[in-house]
Amino acid sequence: RVKREGRDGVRKFTKCMSVAAREKVRMTKELRTAIENDELVVHYQPQKDLRTGKVCGVEALVRWQHEGRLVMPGEFIPLAEETGLICALGEFVMTKACAQVRAWQAAGVEPFKVGVNMSARQFQDPGMTRKVADILSAADLDPRWLEVEITESMIMCDVADSVRKMSELTALGISLALDDFGTGYSSLSTLKSFPLSRLKIDSSFVKGIPADENDMAIASAILSMAKKLGIQTMAEGVENAEQEHFLRDAGCCQMQGYYLARPLPPSELREFVTNYQELPYL
Ligand code: C2E
Ligand code: MG
Ligand code: MG
Ligand code: MG
Repeated sequence: RVKREGRDGVRKFTKCMSVAAREKVRMTKELRTAIENDELVVHYQPQKDLRTGKVCGVEALVRWQHEGRLVMPGEFIPLAEETGLICALGEFVMTKACAQVRAWQAAGVEPFKVGVNMSARQFQDPGMTRKVADILSAADLDPRWLEVEITESMIMCDVADSVRKMSELTALGISLALDDFGTGYSSLSTLKSFPLSRLKIDSSFVKGIPADENDMAIASAILSMAKKLGIQTMAEGVENAEQEHFLRDAGCCQMQGYYLARPLPPSELREFVTNYQELPYL
């Protein structure tokens, strides 16, 4: 109907759009401009190796400097995914993160990995591996320092195709982590077919430590299964010492969470890493 009425129909249609729909159109335009105009910033959250006590990596997390405030991903990533802008956004973040990590290395900071989130649309893009390769070479970054984070739902529907895509990525020399692990529907037996370096245990299980016996049982089971499959484990959302100690004692390899540090702008991250003193575990 809109088509037959031509421009007039479209105008009528736009007029009838709800406030929410118009707000969405506006946000989409602004987000597109933000990507072009460098209004997106990347913060870096430190990660610690629970066996050595050292900072072993960071996760790159995007923020949007918009109308005088810092907008968090929860407020614009869903929109970016819906509109397809997530591909440009994801490339932007990966480009920034690789260049930043390379710059820290060049400045003499002891090298560590950077984890970059990849959304389903990017993962499905047939040119995706090529883009990652181009970003790495433009940044002059050794691929071993890049880890791409994907989620269960992205790889579980077409296992064979996912294995092929993931193998293309690991052939570049980067590593892959499974983000938010435990919230999806992974069949545990399928996990071993994927070239995964790491499971990131979702914060919802960590939250229950030490009060919720079920969460602790699930976390322990995931940790021992991963160990048997030869996959490393990182706990997300660790907020206190009890959680860290429980996870470390249950065999968790690394942790990330406010207890170590919040996501930090680049200058503060560098300061954190430089000043971080390994404290002996009790
Ligand atoms: P995620 O990849 O699971 O990232 C971890 C989130 O947990 C981050 O939220 C981080 O700030 C938060 N977090 C870290 N430690 C703690 C803690 O101790 N307690 C609590 N309560 N939260 C903690 P953030 O930065 O708001 O990002 C949310 C999500 O947005 C990310 O979840 C990721 O799925 C998505 N995201 C962020 N940046 C990007 C990006 O560049 N591309 C894509 N595709 N998604 C992104
Ligand atoms: Mg992540
Ligand atoms: Mg996560
Ligand atoms: Mg999470």
